[in-house]
Amino acid sequence: MKALVLQDDRSLRLVDRPRPVCAAPTDVLVRVAQTGVCGTDRGVLLGKFPARPGVVMGHEAIGEVAEIGTGVTTLKPGDRVVVDPTFYCGLCARCRRGALNFCLHKEGNELGIDRDGAFAPYLALDERFLHPVPDGLPDDRAVLIEPLACVLNNLEAARLRPADDVLVLGGGPIGVLTALVADHLASKVRLVERDPFRRSIAARYFAGVPGCAVRLCEPDAVDGPTASVVVDTVGSLLERACALAQPMGRVVVMGFDGNARGELRPLELLQRGLSIVGAGDYNGLIFPRAIELAQRLPLEGIVTHHVPIDDFPRALDALGLTTGYAGLKVVIQLAEVTQ
Ligand SMILES: [Zn+2]
Ligand SMILES: [Zn+2]
Repeated sequence: MKALVLQDDRSLRLVDRPRPVCAAPTDVLVRVAQTGVCGTDRGVLLGKFPARPGVVMGHEAIGEVAEIGTGVTTLKPGDRVVVDPTFYCGLCARCRRGALNFCLHKEGNELGIDRDGAFAPYLALDERFLHPVPDGLPDDRAVLIEPLACVLNNLEAARLRPADDVLVLGGGPIGVLTALVADHLASKVRLVERDPFRRSIAARYFAGVPGCAVRLCEPDAVDGPTASVVVDTVGSLLERACALAQPMGRVVVMGFDGNARGELRPLELLQRGLSIVGAGDYNGLIFPRAIELAQRLPLEGIVTHHVPIDDFPRALDALGLTTGYAGLKVVIQLAEVTQ
C-alpha cells in the first residue's frame, strides 16, 4: 500500500509499505476512509513538534473494519469506526489512577508520531482504541471527533460556565472547533484570527450554524483584560493570553509549539487570581462523550478540502506550508465517502 512517511528532512513522501496485519488477538485491521491533517502534523513538518523519521503519519482517522483478530469481541467487519489515537496501557500506576493520557508508556507509543498511523489505506490497532461511529453521522463530521475530544477536554478543564466570556486565540480548525463548543456552553464567545482569509471562512461557517453567536475579531480589536476564559490555540501566546484575562480568569494553553517560551510575573498571577490550565489532548474516557456531542454539532462545515493521498502536496499547500492559508480542515481521502 502507498503511505505518507516522514523523512529525515521533515518532509512527507509517498512510500510503498506492506499492509499491516492483526498481529495480536485483539487487533483490528481498519480500512481507512479519511484522515484529518492536524495542527500537530503541520507542527512536525515545520520543526515545532518531534516525531520519528520513517513513521507513517496521521492520527485523526475514520474507516471501516476490514478484519478482526481472534479475540476481538466489540467489533465486526463492516463496522464504521473512529480511531482514538491516544494509546494507554491500562496497567501502569497512572492508568490505574485513571490518568490514561499520562500513561507511563505513552512516550514512543503515539499513533502517527512514533508508531505507524493513518495516512495510509490500512491501519491495525487494538480494539480498545476504536469506537463505533453512530449510524447517519457523515464521514466529514466523524473525522472531527478526535479534535472535538481535545476541545471538550480543554474546555472542561477550564470549568466553563454559562456566564463565561470566552476569547479563543487562533482561527485554525481547533480554534473554530473550540469557539463552536464554547458557544454551546457559554454566553459570549469571540474568536481572534490574524489572517483575513481564515477570518472570512470562519465567519461564513458560523453564520451557517443555527443559533451560533461567535464573533470574529482582528487581533487589534481586543486589548486589556477582556475575557473570563482565554484559550490559546496557537500555543505561543501565553503572555498575551494572560494580559487578556480578567481577574479570576482562566488561561488555557492548547496549541502545541515546542519552541514557544513565555515570561510570567508570579506576583501578577496571584494579584489577579489567574489560573493557567494545561489539559493536553484528552483522557480516552472522554471519547464517547465527544461522539455524543458530534451528533448535535454541524462539524462537517469545518472540512474545506478533501485531498486524495496521491495528491498530498495539495494538502500541504492548503495548510499554508508553502503559501498563505487556503482552507480550514484538510482531510486526506483514502476511500470513497460513504454518505
Ligand atoms: Zn491531532
Ligand atoms: Zn499506562
